[in-house]
Amino acid sequence: MGVFTETILADARACTACMACELACGFHWSKKMDPSRSTIRVHRNDATGLVDIQVLEGCNACNGFETPFCVSVCAPRVLSLGRKRSANAAQVR
Ligand code: SF4
Ligand code: SF4
Repeated sequence: MGVFTETILADARACTACMACELACGFHWSKKMDPSRSTIRVHRNDATGLVDIQVLEGCNACNGFETPFCVSVCAPRVLSLGRKRSANAAQVR
């Protein structure tokens, strides 16, 4: 049995790179519209159109809120709350 913690899962295929999640997360941390404080990062490659979404260390899955800020503002439902194995559990590759 592993130990699991809540985390944000992302399916970047439907992401429009609207950046609403970065703004919402930045607000979560700073109470300002400051995406530089966000623990989620979205990068769209303009040449390929591909989007990369990274959830950074420090994300606490908006602990204490029923729905994480980033999930609640993501219209295409790219983001969801899921679970991952904790670092002290066996790694599965
Ligand atoms: S809010 Fe959703 S659609 Fe917009 S950039 Fe973030 S993940 Fe992509
Ligand atoms: S779950 Fe909360 S802390 Fe984590 S990336 Fe989303 S808004 Fe930021």
